Amino acid sequence: SSTLRIRRIDLRGAAAEGAAPVNYRTAVPRAELDVEAATHAVRPIIDAVRDRGVDAIRELSERFDGVAVDDIRVPQAALRDALDRLDPDVRAGLEESVRRLRATCAAELEHDVTTELAAGAVVTHRKVPVDRVGLYVPGGLAPLVSSVVMNVVPAQTAGVTSIALTSPPQKEFGGLPHPTILAACALLGIDEVYAVGGAQAIAMLALGVGPCRKVDLVTGPGNIYTVTAKRLLKGQVGIDSEAGPTEIAILADDTAHPAHVAADLVSQAEHDPLAAAVLVTPSERLADEVEAELDRQVDATKHTERIRTSLSGRQSGIVLVDDLEQGLEVVDGYAAEHLEIQTADAAAWAARVRNAGAIFVGSYAPVSLGDYCAGSNHVLPTGGCACHSSGLSVRAFTKSVHVVDYSREALAEVAGHVVTLAEAEDLPGHGAAVRVRFES
Ligand code: NAD
Repeated sequence: SSTLRIRRIDLRGAAAEGAAPVNYRTAVPRAELDVEAATHAVRPIIDAVRDRGVDAIRELSERFDGVAVDDIRVPQAALRDALDRLDPDVRAGLEESVRRLRATCAAELEHDVTTELAAGAVVTHRKVPVDRVGLYVPGGLAPLVSSVVMNVVPAQTAGVTSIALTSPPQKEFGGLPHPTILAACALLGIDEVYAVGGAQAIAMLALGVGPCRKVDLVTGPGNIYTVTAKRLLKGQVGIDSEAGPTEIAILADDTAHPAHVAADLVSQAEHDPLAAAVLVTPSERLADEVEAELDRQVDATKHTERIRTSLSGRQSGIVLVDDLEQGLEVVDGYAAEHLEIQTADAAAWAARVRNAGAIFVGSYAPVSLGDYCAGSNHVLPTGGCACHSSGLSVRAFTKSVHVVDYSREALAEVAGHVVTLAEAEDLPGHGAAVRVRFES
């Protein structure tokens, strides 16, 4: 095996007095194939599904998943069967994952808020679950059974009553999604499941095609094509965040264990050749040791090629900084999907981070814990979207509505202001709508 090449970005001295200002939003580059670039591939897929429905989906599945699918809806018997055959250890793992995520979802569920602004002047902020949602579970490179849990549990806790779930058809399973994914659906009581993947799956959910009724909201992670379809269809359907090819950034100092740091970089690189793995450190010694560890670990693991491509891509690297203060600026500007803090006093540094999909504190909270069993959600914004978007949670499946309830007296109290403001906007009809109630 050849030596692994991971790029180094040296930002030391960049923040020195007199130096040109550093743009920390772009200091660490992202993958060349981004949502923007993938648009060319995805637009025709969406158009085909819109124009030709299930026929187009079948053709796209043959082309991209290499399998002909007769019935895109998974039969109930296949779901029951998969659960019957589920390995008991995998079942136990899924149940623990569900238990922990349910606990946080239940605690995070928001309740109605009522504010009485004056006697008889009441505004209620009412929370309402979305009616019908479509959940995406990846399955091109690995069968992400954990993504079934991460999508379904918050949707159910929020009170969503109509749930459709879709995952790519697998050639080796006769065009059905992976059996462990089907088993997880059955375990959670999800019976509307489709064998459709990628951009065509997002289009099916968003537009309503064949047996799949249009949904109000699409959630879930996916590769660059899946996430691009979400962006292009946003507006016609709600989406959670752009949860694309995974990213890990690690802010670490001399106290970090090189083997831990390297293992966590490898664990995310394993997801996708486009995955990003970034170490930010003021310690040149740690940088060298992590690099040596990467070499050793990458050769010893299974998906070596995928990991090498990810780690040697322009989206991965080791960033050298003057100190942790500058490191914090780098990771905040980058806005990683996953951010690990492996430093002395990790909790204090973590508390100062503003932009990240999820933050993992200290040596014993690796991202893989969060991928499965932390009780947190693993569907998280990528591509820098963590500066404006949040990871999946019960909140994503709920919308809120203001309910305005004023009595005659309460309206009278504020009527003068309404009329004045309406006149200031040159909208006299607005003022008249209030006045008319007090005439005669
Ligand atoms: P996937 O299931 O989203 O994609 C598989 C589909 O991609 C296939 O069914 C096919 O239809 C489509 N496809 C493949 N090549 C194509 C091409 N050239 N043109 C158009 N469509 C094409 O995902 P996957 O490949 O299994 O990868 C899973 C992804 O999910 C990884 O990138 C992983 O990092 C990411 N992920 C992200 C999060 C998050 O929260 N951000 C969480 C988990 C996983």
